[in-house]
Amino acid sequence: MQEIQKQVHTCFHCGNTGLLKPIGKTGWKNEDIAEDNYGNVISYMLIEHEDWYVFECPVCNKPVIISEYTFDAAEHGPHEITTEYPTIAVSRDGVPKDIYSAFESAVKTKGIDYSICLLSLRRVLEMICKDKDAVGSNLEKKIDDLIDKKIFPPMIEDACWIIRQLGNDAAHADKISVYTYDVEQVIGYVATIIDYLYSLPHRVEKMKSKIEERKSSEKRNEDKRHTK
Ligand SMILES: [Zn+2]
Repeated sequence: MQEIQKQVHTCFHCGNTGLLKPIGKTGWKNEDIAEDNYGNVISYMLIEHEDWYVFECPVCNKPVIISEYTFDAAEHGPHEITTEYPTIAVSRDGVPKDIYSAFESAVKTKGIDYSICLLSLRRVLEMICKDKDAVGSNLEKKIDDLIDKKIFPPMIEDACWIIRQLGNDAAHADKISVYTYDVEQVIGYVATIIDYLYSLPHRVEKMKSKIEERKSSEKRNEDKRHTK
């Protein structure tokens, strides 16, 4: 059995964390194969590969798909384990620990109680405002402040409005009923906000320095050739 199938994972359908039942596996790989004129392999290198594992959650019986990506061509190349479905939609990279874990806990309550989930998502929004030093006497004013400062793009205003409304309704249980669809939409909005503010800049920065590194090493090699 593969290592990943023995690990504990979280099912984001219901919030169950534990061993999931392995169902199957598939994947892809990127190889560099050189052949001679007769079709015999003369050199082989595995560049990168990704395995996809399908599990069944023993609590809610829904499927969970987890991928494991490995860059094989370099010794300390990237290696990433990602829950592809159902997605928590946020990568840990670049996200402040407390915000990530608050979001993760909020998503985990989805299968338990919608009101708690919506209130927890609203709390994540409050934490983000605090982290970005938003000024204002309530959440609405803090969000406006971040839009004014161009930390939030204007389109986030409506998403935040929805999160606040549903969060408020959840706090006053006598109001409208909340459905799975609503909760999943809100999870998506909060995930997008987190991605935009923290994960995306982190990933872009990482990619940028990788390209710069590659360019300068190419230039060094070029210079070496010229000095020979
Ligand atoms: Zn489940």
